[in-house]
Amino acid sequence: MNLLEYQGKKLFSEAGIRVPSGVVVASGDDAAAVFGKFPSGVVVKAQVHAGGRGKAGGIRLARTGGEAAAAAKDILGMKIRECVVGELLLEEILDIDRELYMSLIVNNDAGNILFLFSQAGGMDIEDIARGRPESLVRWEIDDISSVREFRIRNVLRGSGMHGKVLADVASVAMKLFECFRKNDLLLAEINPLVVTKGGEIVAADAKVDVDDNALFRHDEFGAIPVEIRDSYERRAAEIGISYVQLTGSVGIIASGAGLAMNSMDILESRGSAAANFLETGGGITAKLISDSVGLLLSNPSVKGILVNLYGGVNPMVEAAGGVIDGLTGNSKGIPVVVKLLGNQQEEAWAILEGARIPTVKTVSTEEAVDLLLRTMEGRTEK
Ligand code: GDP
Ligand code: MN
Repeated sequence: MNLLEYQGKKLFSEAGIRVPSGVVVASGDDAAAVFGKFPSGVVVKAQVHAGGRGKAGGIRLARTGGEAAAAAKDILGMKIRECVVGELLLEEILDIDRELYMSLIVNNDAGNILFLFSQAGGMDIEDIARGRPESLVRWEIDDISSVREFRIRNVLRGSGMHGKVLADVASVAMKLFECFRKNDLLLAEINPLVVTKGGEIVAADAKVDVDDNALFRHDEFGAIPVEIRDSYERRAAEIGISYVQLTGSVGIIASGAGLAMNSMDILESRGSAAANFLETGGGITAKLISDSVGLLLSNPSVKGILVNLYGGVNPMVEAAGGVIDGLTGNSKGIPVVVKLLGNQQEEAWAILEGARIPTVKTVSTEEAVDLLLRTMEGRTEK
């Protein structure tokens, strides 16, 4: 299980490794609201399971609350290597003197653990290995519990390190070994490991992979507390659906990830955008659909709702009942279009039409999207 940067940093911090102070947010407004904690500015960082965020535009510096909100709005919903950004980490800006590279990785072929370190941090390890091979030191370890700090210092010297920084970095490495062992990690990469102008060693990034086979003894990864979790995502977890907050105006409820992505793409091709990604998964019940509709209705940026379901095993009459039930909370009359196919579809269509809910009975998501967008436009023109 790959952890997000802020989750990885929490493990580092617990191990005594210094990380920048930071807050997780999921909207531009929250970004502006927490800006006061960082008087000299923040780094706004996309939280996705992908590297290379800097190059992809997923990391921005902001010196004012307005800049932070603007950066947050730009980055939220952005796709970085197929990962949609739903959360941001706002961090204090570090006064960077040097960027180092440090990692530990389980070396499956050799059955041991590999420690890698370079003074040329900030760039990918592949680029370091190609462009600055003399700075890269490798150390293979059979038994983590046998590692001693003086051995680490000897290894670091091979990269040209010396003096106080050498001792301080060795101390960080020792803590990383302990963190690696204690949390059953497969990978722990700090790139860059920053030396600040004040001489502090700070983990400015965290790439952490936990061994799935050891997750049974790590309940904490399911519920890593953060200062601000987006309330929609918390409620989605309670409902039992996959949900990512996005920045558009069309709420989507889809029975599968493929249908959801397809709906989002079609919306985009029409110049519109999704307010969320929502996948119900296989276990569709009236309550799950009703709660999902309620969740979308509570989001003020949702101006229309597309329900796009395919029910193989799940009776679609349940879904139809759930939509009607959920829409009792639709006090603002937000337009809704339902496209639903599968098990008991005729009965489900009859129920929806009986409740005067626009229903698309074909496989065409385009048709459903266009009908919804027309209805939404009709409302704003009035
Ligand atoms: P990655 O591109 O996904 O690996 O993201 P990183 O967290 O490694 O950030 C990329 C780059 O952004 C770093 O190598 C730094 O140069 C820069 N960066 C990250 N945090 C800070 C910070 O606090 N201050 C400054 N000035 N630059 C930062
Ligand atoms: Mn990095």
